[in-house]
Parts: sequence; C-alpha cells; structure tokens
Amino acid sequence: MNSCTFQTSHDFAVAMDAEDPLAGFRERFHFPKTKNNEDCVYLCGHSLGLQPKKSKECVEQELTDWAQLGVEGHFYARSPWLPYHRLLTEQTAALVGAKPLEVVVMNSLTVNLHLMMVSFYRPTRQRHKILIERGAFPSDQYAVKSQIHFCGFDSPSSLLEVGPRAGESCIRDEDIQTLINREGDSIALILLGGLNYATGQAFNILDVTKAGREKGCIVGFDLAHAAGNVPLKLHDWGPDFAVWCSYKYLNGGPGCVAGCFVHERHARDLEMPRFAGWWGHDEQTRFEMKSEFRPMMGAEGWQLSNPPILALAALRASMDIFHEAGIERLRAKSVSLTGYLDFLLQQHASPKLSVITPHEAERRGSQLSIRVPQHARSSCSRLAAEGVSFDWREPDIVRVAPVPLYNSYQDVYRFVQRFASVLE
Ligand SMILES: *Cc1c(COP(=O)(O)O)cnc(C)c1O
Repeated sequence: MNSCTFQTSHDFAVAMDAEDPLAGFRERFHFPKTKNNEDCVYLCGHSLGLQPKKSKECVEQELTDWAQLGVEGHFYARSPWLPYHRLLTEQTAALVGAKPLEVVVMNSLTVNLHLMMVSFYRPTRQRHKILIERGAFPSDQYAVKSQIHFCGFDSPSSLLEVGPRAGESCIRDEDIQTLINREGDSIALILLGGLNYATGQAFNILDVTKAGREKGCIVGFDLAHAAGNVPLKLHDWGPDFAVWCSYKYLNGGPGCVAGCFVHERHARDLEMPRFAGWWGHDEQTRFEMKSEFRPMMGAEGWQLSNPPILALAALRASMDIFHEAGIERLRAKSVSLTGYLDFLLQQHASPKLSVITPHEAERRGSQLSIRVPQHARSSCSRLAAEGVSFDWREPDIVRVAPVPLYNSYQDVYRFVQRFASVLE
C-alpha cells in the first residue's frame, strides 16, 4: 500500500486490522500489561521481542526431560540434546537465505563477531583496514578496535569509518561505494550492519558485497537489526560471513543464542585459522577425545561449546512461528505498517519531529527513528510509564518499531495519538 491510500481515522486502523491475514499471530504472544490490565502499546521489538506463549512449554519440556533422564537426555530426551542445535538449522537457513551448511546457532552476537574476525580479519602491511559505519553499535566498535590492536595494528590508522554527509542523518550508498573503490586495496574487512541500529537505515548488502569482493576485501555483516526484520539472501548476495542475535526481532528471549553465517565458499577450508572448541570438532570422532582438532565442515566448525538447550528451546518456539508466518508475508505487512506509522507521524506530529530513517521501503525495515525536541525527554518517559513502549537514544532520538508479527494498525494509531499529544 502506498502512502496516499492511508487514512487518518481510527476506523481505518480497525479496518486494516480486520483485513490483515497475519493478525492472528498477535494472540501467540504475551503482551506486558498496563495498570488497567490492557495490552501495552509495545513498539520495542527492535530491542527485545515479545515472548511467544509457546516458549514456556518448550523450555519446560527440556526441564522435564532433564529431571527424568539426567545425562541420558543427551540421547533420549524427546528431542535429544546432542544434535539439538540442528533443530534450528533449516528454519534459520531459510530465514536468512542460506544453505543449511552455512548457518549455525551458537554463543551470543559479540562472541560470534569475534570468532568471525579471528578467522576473517587477517591484516597485512598493505591490507589492514576495517571499514565500518560511523556510529556503529558500541559493542561492534569495541570488538573491531580490539581485533585491530590484537593483530598489532592501531585503530586510528586501521579503522576506516563511513558516515553521513554534514547535515544528513543517513549514509549515502554511493559514498560507501566511493570509499570502497578509493580505499579498497588497503581494506582487509568491510563490516557493516544490515540495518543501522540508531537510524534504521538498511544497507544494500548485495552492492556492498560486490564492491568489496571486487577489491579483494572480506565482507561481513552484523544483522542484529535485520534478521527477522527484512528478507535476506545471504548465499546469493555472497558476503563471507554474517552474525546476528535472536532476542530482537527473533523473539528468542533475553540473551538468547545468536546466529552465524559462513559462506559456502569457506565451508571446506578446514585449514582456515580459527579459535577452536570441542563442539566444532568433527562429530564422528568428537567423543574419541583426541588431541588433534578436526573442524566440522561449514559454519558448525566454529562452534566452541555444547549449547544452552533451555535457550535453544525458547528459540524453537519463536522460529516455528516465523516459519509459519513466512518472512515474505511479514515483510509485506511490515512495509505497510511502517509506512502507516510514517504517514500518521507526518499528519499529526510534525513539525515538532523529523523521521531520520529513510522514507523508501527498500532502505529501511520496521523501525523508524524520530528526532524530537530535547526537552521532550521527560514527557516521553511519562508515556513509557503509561504503557507505551519505545526507546530513547541520547540526545534526542526516539526509536519505534511496529513488528508485523504481533503489532496491529491500532497499536500504531494509539502510539501516534499519545505521542503527538505529549509533544504538544
Ligand atoms: C543489539 C546489538 C548488539 C548486542 O550485542 P550482544 O553481544 O548480543 O550483547 C551488538 N551489535 C549490534 C549491531 C546490535 O544491534
């Protein structure tokens, strides 16, 4: 739906919800409640996704099996724990557009980022730079700088940042291309977010990957804000690696197990340097407990430890729902829902605010980042106390994400009503 067909009335939101083929999924999630026991207007799925009602049952099943079977659960649990992580492989691969060999669910996001850089950031005197977006998520900045130092280089001269032009909030795609073309020969690794966490800007993964690979750079993506938000075709687009977390759009639960993609072209390179652990060892001989490490083929070869089954169980509950809803259908609703939010904000709340997220659907996901007057901070926290959830980023940015899996048009309508009234 394009913006000229949206309407400002409450009836319009009600009618859109009535027509929404995905509306039924809302019932599968727990919503935090207001003091009057109504559902909060929860627009914080970019930060922590809501809990699927089925998560509890899935976690309890593993607790029960553990209680009844002890160590034998590794083999005889209803879903045996030894190969348990594979229960997530196919759905994860489908979600990010990868082959099963290319993905694994393991560790947490920043850990996976480090593991990938250990293998893929191999700086030389000529080629030692890492290109990131200016204002990347702090954890990514710390990880990148510490890897540069760890390899004996220094961060002012080996860190290359691409940022918005003066007076602009988002980075122009052409500026990324220009920088890669100009500096490519000295860039060892390009590491961008799939979507920038602060502005909600989506980067063109295919174009960046192409430009980087033509220049001989390794290309990786942090998909924390992209996985479960926008459709991805990692295998075809061709980055060398990608990492993401599962507690934002993927609703796995706080601190849940993260994801990792390693392109097939590296799957059989068993000589590649890596930090190793027993769970990455060839499973045929893992329990022979030999001292020589032989990695599994593909992404599984980067596993370190036996995984946290309780967290994986919660993630299964959510991935089942994603699989059923389908990322393409979710994306279609997301484009409409976020377009509707953008439309209502223009109608009701300008000129006191400006949306800094790009307006074109293909340059954003669910999230809109809104710049508000700095003094609006206290009214915004009042709203939060009344059961309208969104988040505030210093100095003056409000981030809101209507999530197609569980948010409604009426959520968006209610948010804009309340938000516009506090900005008055
Ligand atoms: C959310 C987020 C993180 C958080 O890292 P954890 O290791 O999961 O704590 C890191 N990077 C980006 C880009 C994020 O959006």
